[in-house]
Amino acid sequence: PSPSKRRPGEPRIWVCVRKRPLTSAEERRKETDVVTSAGQSCVLQESRAAVDLTHYKLQHRFFFDHVFGEACSNEEVYLRTAQPLVQHMLQGGSATCFAYGQTGAGKTHTMLGCSPVGPSQSRGRGELGLYSLAVKDLFSHLSSSPALTRLTVFVSFFEIYCGQLYDLLDHRNRLFAREDGCGNVHIAGLCHKRVESVDSLLQVISRGTEHRSQGSSGVNPVSSRSHALLQIQLRGAGQSVHGRMWFVDLAGSERASDSGDPDRRSRLEGAEINQSLLALKECIRSLDQEQGHTPFRQSKLTQVLKDSFVGDSMTCMIANISPGHSSTEHTLNTLRYADRVK
Ligand code: ADP
Ligand code: MG
Repeated sequence: PSPSKRRPGEPRIWVCVRKRPLTSAEERRKETDVVTSAGQSCVLQESRAAVDLTHYKLQHRFFFDHVFGEACSNEEVYLRTAQPLVQHMLQGGSATCFAYGQTGAGKTHTMLGCSPVGPSQSRGRGELGLYSLAVKDLFSHLSSSPALTRLTVFVSFFEIYCGQLYDLLDHRNRLFAREDGCGNVHIAGLCHKRVESVDSLLQVISRGTEHRSQGSSGVNPVSSRSHALLQIQLRGAGQSVHGRMWFVDLAGSERASDSGDPDRRSRLEGAEINQSLLALKECIRSLDQEQGHTPFRQSKLTQVLKDSFVGDSMTCMIANISPGHSSTEHTLNTLRYADRVK
């Protein structure tokens, strides 16, 4: 691993919340917006039935490094989340950016955006996601700094479903992660594609996203049940890795409570997701402790991301939340999870 240039006192972990707007379908259903965001604070209004069947309101207030309201664009989110990570990677460090949250809360909108070649069709104009904004930023640094012009950019894209790895850039080929004698984790056979522009990145990713949906069998799209990992590597002479960054579009956090589902498959998937999200929380928390144990072997996700939890890595988590009252319980779970990661 390359030495990193993280400045002393610079935070290693930051946790943000992003609230999406109500969708037009939710507006038609008369969903009410129960989330208020301002600066660093996020307030969730919960309506509960009392014994006499009247309703009373409970307020849950949380503070984060930043709370993005429904009017924020991906660009604004990028500037406060992934951009410092890109800087860190340019200086030879490794960094990770997670999108956490319930299915439908806006993880993929944040990561992938809704560009014309992307699968997500939201109302309004197309918008680049953090993947593209990071690569765009990266290329502008590489072309403007003589010291960096020799570096090249490679991406890999795979998913973790039920503890197994599938290469999204190679026909959903099954992959295996192994730890070598020095404790480095390698994914044998993982496809790395060189990208030379944002357009070529988008092409690579849209092909990968098609493979992602091919694994879908039942009613629930596979994307809610698997973690998607995009790795960006900056390579120097002789293909040595100069810096590295991960973007992780996590499985729907609501699936972690599927462990009581009557369907055996859903139960297994739920248990797996629950385990990986718990391990992830522990591993991120351990980043802030000088000493102590990082339980990265507790799930395939954290094992693959081992690099992100050691050394001088930087991590940003974006907890995506839906504003509607019918999501209150899941939103509260997401806010509590994000609160504990800090
Ligand atoms: P997830 O990946 O968490 O399941 P999506 O990103 O697919 O959720 O978002 C669900 C829906 O909400 C999509 O139709 C998406 O376009 C829309 N959406 C999400 N975030 C935003 C946003 N910030 N602004 C506008 N629409 C959004
Ligand atoms: Mg998604």
